[in-house]
Amino acid sequence: MDAAFFTAWMTRTALGVAAARDELTRLDAAIGDADHGTNLDRGFTAVREALATPPATPREVLTTAGTTLIRKVGGASGPLYGTALRQMAARLPATAEVTLADLADALTAGADGVRRLGGAAEGDKTMVDALAPAARALAAAAGSGATTEEALDAALRAAEEGARATIPLQARKGRASYLGERSVGHMDPGAASTTLILAALRTACAE
Ligand code: ADP
Ligand code: MG
Ligand code: MG
Repeated sequence: MDAAFFTAWMTRTALGVAAARDELTRLDAAIGDADHGTNLDRGFTAVREALATPPATPREVLTTAGTTLIRKVGGASGPLYGTALRQMAARLPATAEVTLADLADALTAGADGVRRLGGAAEGDKTMVDALAPAARALAAAAGSGATTEEALDAALRAAEEGARATIPLQARKGRASYLGERSVGHMDPGAASTTLILAALRTACAE
């Protein structure tokens, strides 16, 4: 996997977020402040612009993308996703190509970074509920000799399941936690967007 692959991941994410913008905002309207779709659309549009001049390494792609999200997104999700991508970059070797095992290590570091910054554990009804199982599934698949496609499928399925599992939960972090029991019965918007980001990774792999 080279810089072009990681750039394709970010481009696919931008397209996926743009297409799902209203749906993400609708989810955030139910348990937040109705801006998750617009926040991420603004952020990933800026990421695409920042990557118009292609960086040389996967590490540079993710550093640029993460820094751009932190700069451009005012909501909680900007610093959280920005940190995830920057932590992923820091974990990757500074080479032109990285392996599936490198990617799995990096996603684990990204999930750890989000947990550290946001203070959320799994079950708190946040993006961590999709991201942490996805990282575990990717690491397990990479460690068991799966192909890249199989490993990314497994990560996507884990993210989808994690996002679905946020529906009956009561939020303990972020704006949704202000609603108490009224946060029950809705999917967490950040867990939904994490699923989109993992779907974009799977799509980039098929290109
Ligand atoms: P804001 O809540 O500032 O309006 P967004 O709507 O863009 O920001 O993002 C909300 C999402 O961010 C939530 O659905 C949740 O997944 C995630 N989030 C919020 N706070 C935290 C936290 N402390 N830890 C992890 N994720 C969080
Ligand atoms: Mg919001
Ligand atoms: Mg907001």
